[in-house]
Amino acid sequence: MVREQLEARAITDPALLDAFRRVPRHAFAAEPEPPTAYGDHALPLPAGQTISQPYIVAAMTSAAQPPGGWRGAQVLEVGTGSGYQAAILAELGAEVVSIERHRELSRLAAEQLVANGYHGVRLLVGDGSEGAPEWAPYDAIIVTAAGPSIPQPLIDQLAPSGGRLVMPIGSRDHQLVTVVERHGSEVRTRQLEPAVFVPLIGEHGFTDE
Ligand code: SAH
Repeated sequence: MVREQLEARAITDPALLDAFRRVPRHAFAAEPEPPTAYGDHALPLPAGQTISQPYIVAAMTSAAQPPGGWRGAQVLEVGTGSGYQAAILAELGAEVVSIERHRELSRLAAEQLVANGYHGVRLLVGDGSEGAPEWAPYDAIIVTAAGPSIPQPLIDQLAPSGGRLVMPIGSRDHQLVTVVERHGSEVRTRQLEPAVFVPLIGEHGFTDE
């Protein structure tokens, strides 16, 4: 997976590649059948959700890297899902807060994170489009669900000293992974690549259908 899907597609950061080697993706998948769990695709989760393709997890993580590096960085993930992305961030040495709207998914993620030795991840249940102001500011925010625009509360909770937010922005069925960098009150935005994520459902996302 690391060699053929990540290194071959220009993911070069050794610490990031190491994190992907260490986190057992099959442990977070609903149907844990290697080699399927390590295939070049998303994996199904309960409640109609998915764990993103490994390359997309890597590209988004890479784009979110805070100016001071990952170690000790305060990071928010919106959309805990299986806990896989949270485990990658924990492997990188970040202080991870992750919020999920489905209580059952959060519970399963908690089980897998602890079973795999990731004890420090703080899991919250709620509408992550509002962020998690109690633990802000964040050096990095990764939103693993798609919204129509960048939620203002997330921009407000981003560290003003170069904090980075990565999120797929677009319609319900296709988006562009977008990177936001905050310098004081200035917000710079650039677009990375097309993607298809499940919708961010909430106050600053899409409505539940
Ligand atoms: N990062 C996850 C995959 C996430 S799939 C992993 O590594 O496995 C997207 C997740 O976002 C789903 O679990 C969905 O329930 C959740 N979600 C959607 N809208 C949300 C919201 N407003 N707040 C928090 N979680 C949300």
